[in-house]
Amino acid sequence: MQKRTIGLYVHIPFCAQKCRYCDFLSFAHTDASVREAYTRALIAEIGQQGKVYGNRFLVDSVFLGGGTPSLLSAGQLSRILAALSRSFSRTRDCETTMEANPGALDARKLEAVLTHGVNRLSIGVQSLSDALLRVLGRIHTRADFLANYKAARHAGFANINLDLMFAFPMQALADWRETLTEALDLRPEHVSFYSLQPEEATPLWASLRDGTLAAIDEDTDREMYHDAVRTLTRAGYAHYEISNAARPGFRCRHNLKYWSMEAYLGLGLGAHSYADGIRFSNTCDPDAYIAAADGRAPFRAHTHVNSLEDCISEYMFLGLRRIEGVLEADYARHFGEELDARFGGEIARLTREGLLERADCALRLTPRGIDVSNRVFVAFV
Ligand code: SF4
Repeated sequence: MQKRTIGLYVHIPFCAQKCRYCDFLSFAHTDASVREAYTRALIAEIGQQGKVYGNRFLVDSVFLGGGTPSLLSAGQLSRILAALSRSFSRTRDCETTMEANPGALDARKLEAVLTHGVNRLSIGVQSLSDALLRVLGRIHTRADFLANYKAARHAGFANINLDLMFAFPMQALADWRETLTEALDLRPEHVSFYSLQPEEATPLWASLRDGTLAAIDEDTDREMYHDAVRTLTRAGYAHYEISNAARPGFRCRHNLKYWSMEAYLGLGLGAHSYADGIRFSNTCDPDAYIAAADGRAPFRAHTHVNSLEDCISEYMFLGLRRIEGVLEADYARHFGEELDARFGGEIARLTREGLLERADCALRLTPRGIDVSNRVFVAFV
């Protein structure tokens, strides 16, 4: 019997310092012994999960995310990638991505991960203005990024994503246009572009609250977004998800799994999984995670068996993130009913409001629907 495919997400929760807007599960200023203990625990978990899933699934995407995976040493990255190869079979064309942050990447690490099958690099650039990088609290400069980009191309990376950020304090529309234009001049294969959402309890949020910094207004945020979509499209990128665009043949297979409800297995601290209709996640407590490697505690902290209603809601709001939308025939094949049978009333209302449209046998967000996507998604929950 042909094995099903699965994606692997591997979480590396370390950063050189916390960016001012960040509330991700990552820790700054950790010492080398903690990173080593974590690496060992992660390798133990990879071995354990390989016994459960390795025989049943074929891996066609791997994503080393964080945090800053490139903060680990070349040796630690090599050991983690080797452990993945021991425990799981990868397809020949497996897409294997590593997130990297400028200032925590060098030629040795690039070479080590390339040797172990990493064929896609996702670089956290955010901005190409040194002044704005300081507002965000990033550790790198524009020159650091340009040097890393050049080194990655030189090492042989032929698939590079650049993560860019817009609508953050002090950033004008002209700054955003300049960053995007300069980034596209480098001809990356893929661009992710996210509007900054200030998260409570971050230093940036505190600065917005006490008035030290002023938030970007909603209209400017949307102008920046639609301006970026036009620029990317003109430059030959297909806008395929709300915040992602790619040159032909370079859509991110791994992230498409999330939006299409395909199986993925999360490994590492706090990592989330979805397989066999079950969502589960690991502990977010680093001490408990490291203790789990010796069998003193479980890696897993939460398990939720999806009901049919859960699956339908998730299928809709994740699928609507894709610009092509939810294909009506796919929905019917998955759930044995027509879209309108369940959501006819909501679809008619949101279509009248100009937020949804039907085209090419699919239901999708209109450009105005993208601007208020959360409001649209709620209708399917
Ligand atoms: S590099 Fe990424 S994960 Fe690390 S602190 Fe900055 S935003 Fe957060």
